[in-house]
Amino acid sequence: MTQDHANSGATSTEAAHAAYRALPSVDALLREPALAAQAAQVGDAALLDAVRAVLAAARTAIGAGSPSPAPHQWPEQVAALLDARMRRSLQPVINATGVIIHTNLGRAPLSANALSAMAEVGQGYSSLEYDLERGTRGSRHDHARALLQRLTGAEDALVVNNNAAAVYLVLAAFCQGREVLISRSQLVEIGGGFRIPDVLVQGGARLVEVGTTNRTHPRDFADAITPDTAALLRVHSSNFRQIGFVAMPTLADMAAIAHDDAAHVPLLLIDDLGSGTLLDTRTYGLAAEPMVQESVAAGADLVTFSGDKLLGGPQAGIIVGRAPLIEALRRHPLARALRVDKSTLAALEATLWAYDRGQAPDELPVWRMIAAPPDALHARAEKWRLALARYGVESSVSAGESAVGGGSLPGETLPTWLLSLSTAQPDSVAAALRHARPPVICRIQNDKLLFDPRTVLPEQEDLLLEALHASLVRTAG
Ligand SMILES: *Cc1c(COP(=O)(O)O)cnc(C)c1O
Repeated sequence: MTQDHANSGATSTEAAHAAYRALPSVDALLREPALAAQAAQVGDAALLDAVRAVLAAARTAIGAGSPSPAPHQWPEQVAALLDARMRRSLQPVINATGVIIHTNLGRAPLSANALSAMAEVGQGYSSLEYDLERGTRGSRHDHARALLQRLTGAEDALVVNNNAAAVYLVLAAFCQGREVLISRSQLVEIGGGFRIPDVLVQGGARLVEVGTTNRTHPRDFADAITPDTAALLRVHSSNFRQIGFVAMPTLADMAAIAHDDAAHVPLLLIDDLGSGTLLDTRTYGLAAEPMVQESVAAGADLVTFSGDKLLGGPQAGIIVGRAPLIEALRRHPLARALRVDKSTLAALEATLWAYDRGQAPDELPVWRMIAAPPDALHARAEKWRLALARYGVESSVSAGESAVGGGSLPGETLPTWLLSLSTAQPDSVAAALRHARPPVICRIQNDKLLFDPRTVLPEQEDLLLEALHASLVRTAG
């Protein structure tokens, strides 16, 4: 070992000793006045845990040659750790992406009525399975039933956990060990790995593909029927669109085949609508998304759709259709495993009431966002631009497009106005925005950050602008 090395070794050891000696005691940090308010919130045990973790990290850092933190940094580090630990994993975010039914961001925001209905039944006891007329045991399946019958024209209805569960239950109950005919154009993957062929297999059904990728004709179904056939299944292609030389029988055509008296056995026509809608999307300048009422009227025996896509309610799977079939589903052992809880039912019932009163377009956030007029969106984006200018931040307002999302209306967009921000470090600003409170999720396109007012709730605007300003300052610093 050379003289130099020995000297530097001795110096660094001395520095480390000094740094270790400078470490505050656990007790001193526990009594730190700057942590008192937070300590009261989190409790003594969490505070002690955080203090020990910060001191341990400092010892490790000193061992690796770092200096001891300055005195004022100790409470800051403990506070930051407590803060991070207290932050909920599932938290509200501001959706500035312009995708209305954003599956990663929780799909449909709920209406005020749906939220208060959830809070009311959640706060105390409820008539979940209690018949208030008779004073006897009731059924949770009764709550949204009459509304769904009225709104869809179906004989009966059942609500389960989500639409995937709805499709699975239907297949397990009626198609186990038997054949299900489906067009080759509809063997789709919906997203998150949910593939129709896999669900069929899980439900115990045997998949029989008919037609071709682009064209399927009524006779393809008719010719494929055997004594083993249980059902014809139509699946809405949801997240993609076929154009060009394509053909698919109408639901009424399929109903005629399924219910043909000459068939060997009575066949079911099952229609998985995915999103489904009770309102006509064409009224809003969009393409037609299949309507639940139309499927029922066209003769589908069972129709399944989601509660939190275009319906604009809580996560749920809704099955409507012929009364004896729905009754069999209700009695199926799987129905218990797939049932929904009281807060879902409360939110769903409140959401359906909005349709029943004809107020869905005004009351449900999803439809309000779809219906937002371009002028109003322009005014909001312009207001944001001016507010940012007061912070000294330059931005612009440009024409753009919003999407409905949620596996509905693929390729369809709604004209909107975007707040557009140029920055040297778009990814860093976007990352800072994701760490804001609440986190803000935006789009990045051509190195610009884009914010679509369509999906930002009016009461979130100030928080969005504050987060944006703070993120720009933090990223610049
Ligand atoms: C979205 C979708 C599903 C799954 O619905 P979830 O409510 O997400 O479970 C099933 N089928 C189709 C056609 C869909 O679009």
